[in-house]
Amino acid sequence: MLDVIIVGGGPAGMSAALTLGRAHRTVLLADSGQGRNAPADAVHNVLTHDGTPPARLRELGRRDLAAYPAVEHRTTEVTSLRRLADDHFEAVLDDGTVVEARRLLLATGLRDELPDLDGVAELWGKSAFHCPYCHGFEVSGRRIAVLGAEPDRVRLALHLSRFTGDMALCTGGGELEPVLRGALEGNGIAVHDRPVSRLESDGTALRRIVFTDGSALERDAAFIRTTPRRRADFAERLGCATFPDACVEVDEFGRTSVPGVYAAGDMARRATVPVPLAAVVAAAAAGTVAGTVIDQDLLSADFELPNPFASGRA
Ligand SMILES: Cc1cc2nc3c(=O)[nH]c(=O)nc-3n(C[C@H](O)[C@H](O)[C@H](O)COP(=O)(O)OP(=O)(O)OC[C@H]3O[C@@H](n4cnc5c(N)ncnc54)[C@H](O)[C@@H]3O)c2cc1C
Repeated sequence: MLDVIIVGGGPAGMSAALTLGRAHRTVLLADSGQGRNAPADAVHNVLTHDGTPPARLRELGRRDLAAYPAVEHRTTEVTSLRRLADDHFEAVLDDGTVVEARRLLLATGLRDELPDLDGVAELWGKSAFHCPYCHGFEVSGRRIAVLGAEPDRVRLALHLSRFTGDMALCTGGGELEPVLRGALEGNGIAVHDRPVSRLESDGTALRRIVFTDGSALERDAAFIRTTPRRRADFAERLGCATFPDACVEVDEFGRTSVPGVYAAGDMARRATVPVPLAAVVAAAAAGTVAGTVIDQDLLSADFELPNPFASGRA
């Protein structure tokens, strides 16, 4: 029986494994290798590693974990998870191996369902983006468009107008509230109301946004809305409380509503956080917190001590 099974080896899972490995906890870190930011050339907003390719960051994480013999980092997909008792979980791996542990950490992340728009898949993470903090700075001063007409799209266009003097909003034919149109035009942001037909690229570089009437707008970067989906449905199957936005509800220590099951990273948030805040450093921090609290939980159980993290979900 292991101490902990961690499902997912992105920044959240790897950071939790580091904390637990340093506490001599026996850990299986199972990872199927599909990090959310894999399509991007570089990871930004990560202090000391700003601009590092995503795969390189993972390789460095894996190298750190290799120093801790109690952590097994295995490239595999977990195909099923079961809670047999409060302190007894079972995972089945893709080769049929069955592993048991006292605690479970879900860190399976999210995947992005792209809008149904020709050309967007090739550009995703290269010049079609979703996050101004991840990729906005790199396109500063370039020709940028935000796609969509909803209030949060207008907010993003206003946000990015601080990055460039050539900013456009393409509504795609969606209705734009007059007050929002006024805010855009009043701040020098061009509004294009025609439905969008496709994104035209030069390899991985966006060239033009082509409208259904055949006209086009030359652009260097487009900010699109994706629909985040959980990569795995273990949380629901285990009975964990979830939000409609694909996140699992956790307390401040990473505990889900099911005893012994923790969650961290993009797939988990507290009820007080209004929208998922997806960032590598935030995911890593959540993994460190969950790893620490799991270790303390096991310590309390083994030595019959009060749990210092007993507030929130015990
Ligand atoms: C295009 C793009 C660019 C981004 N750029 C940045 C950036 O520059 N800076 C930044 O801070 N953030 C960036 N992000 C956000 C960042 O990718 C996430 O916040 C971060 O990866 C979350 O880490 P995580 O550990 O929660 O999940 P992930 O990194 O997605 O890792 C989850 C892991 O779980 C594994 N997994 C899933 N199911 C199973 C299973 N059943 N069995 C085994 N393993 C499983 C997956 O294969 C994956 O490896 C970007 C996101 C996107 C979409």
